[in-house]
Amino acid sequence: MGLTRSEQMSRIRGKDTSPEQLLRSALWRAGHRYRLQSRTPHGRPDVVFAGAKVAIFVDGCFWHGCPEHYVRPRTRNEFWSSKLLENVERDRRQSLRLEAEGWRVCRFWEHQVFESLPQVLETVRSALQDDSWSPEGSWRVMRVDALPGEGDMEERWLEDLRGQGPRRSVVVRRSTKKWKRVHGQSGSGL
Ligand SMILES: [Zn+2]
Repeated sequence: MGLTRSEQMSRIRGKDTSPEQLLRSALWRAGHRYRLQSRTPHGRPDVVFAGAKVAIFVDGCFWHGCPEHYVRPRTRNEFWSSKLLENVERDRRQSLRLEAEGWRVCRFWEHQVFESLPQVLETVRSALQDDSWSPEGSWRVMRVDALPGEGDMEERWLEDLRGQGPRRSVVVRRSTKKWKRVHGQSGSGL
């Protein structure tokens, strides 16, 4: 998909733009008219299409347990673990309650908004227009246990936000791949 000049510019500015802002302006350019500062019965999504009952959340990769970019902090493990659990449980509660009341809930990672905006827009478009739309699975890191021994290994526990599929546990070397918005400098990877 070709990019217009203003899209290119907004991506270059991306370094200073929040993913929520980036998504909002892309939706607006695509002709989708949403409400700002809109509440739902269960929380305040980043973008709300009240008429169509579509709620969109942009979840930060660290705070919401992105399987690609969550990094286990080396200090204050108890504190950060319970924070993570709290955030993911809130995401789950909001999504399930909204969906039980007939809302369509789209949840995107911040890295998706920056790296794959066209696909994100396409998902929103289908949520708004296609009768057969249903949400994709949304895996979250729920807990990470440091494993004893050499090599900085850890065990990660992942769950799907909507409880579909089994809880998975994987043993991996501790990730240091914190997600950074580097595209502003590199101008590539878009
Ligand atoms: Zn991520």
